[in-house]
Amino acid sequence: MMEFASRMAVPLVLWASLLPAAFAQEEGIGGPVDSSSYEETGAGLVVDETTAPDWTAADSSFHFPAYETYGDWNTDQIFERRPAVTDTINLQLGWANCDHAMPVHGRITSPFGMRHGRHHYGTDIKLQTGDTVLSAFEGKVRISRYHRDFGYVVVVRHPNGLETLYGHLSKCLAQVGDEVQAGDVLGLGGSTGRSTGSHLHFETRYLGHPIDPAKVFDLEAGKLRSNSFLVTPKAFQVPASGPARYRVRKGDTLYAISRRSGVPVARLCKINRIKASSTLRVGQSLRLR
Ligand SMILES: [Zn+2]
Repeated sequence: MMEFASRMAVPLVLWASLLPAAFAQEEGIGGPVDSSSYEETGAGLVVDETTAPDWTAADSSFHFPAYETYGDWNTDQIFERRPAVTDTINLQLGWANCDHAMPVHGRITSPFGMRHGRHHYGTDIKLQTGDTVLSAFEGKVRISRYHRDFGYVVVVRHPNGLETLYGHLSKCLAQVGDEVQAGDVLGLGGSTGRSTGSHLHFETRYLGHPIDPAKVFDLEAGKLRSNSFLVTPKAFQVPASGPARYRVRKGDTLYAISRRSGVPVARLCKINRIKASSTLRVGQSLRLR
């Protein structure tokens, strides 16, 4: 499957080199300053091995984008992590001005990476409830439903195998199976699921593995970073953030440290192998991640 994708990438790159590389420089970054924070669990991201396609492989390759890469079309599971990507695959992202769009224009309120000791596999972009959320690329809607963490969520699979996720919508407007173009409306922004404050939780994934959307898009400038994206094992690295350790000061309690660092008490206890009732020593060094 991988080899197939690699081979396919070559003519696409050649094709792209024949076309102007100019992309729309979109503006309109806005939205009021507002903090939003929430946590997402990995719950729901389970592998469903019972799903068998009803289509023959030949039918499916015709009907479903990147079927040759995924080998299925699952409209139930938000994501299924496939075996780790070990090859280098060149994904063509854009050919012309109209083939990509910013899902929304707004300030980034939380980047991809570790947050409060948990993984945050997307980029949070400020919006107002009711703002339209647009498909980043052409593709086919694979998921359009409610999820307890993502709220109303839409996932689009693109012909190059990339998938994009749009979470916390107030309303899904695109239906499963809809063929969409870049810039088509998928839903309306909101704050459903595990979210405080209206924003878009935007993810880019390949074979179920999250890629920092900021590696694909310059989200604040509103353009692609490049016409193509090189998928390598490094593309999936999740950056750590915040200090790694905390030195206990006089008067500190585990609860106060938890509140300040954003790392839950249970997690502090686990990674430091202590109990919530343990007495902290002044000068003691605690792991925060
Ligand atoms: Zn988020």
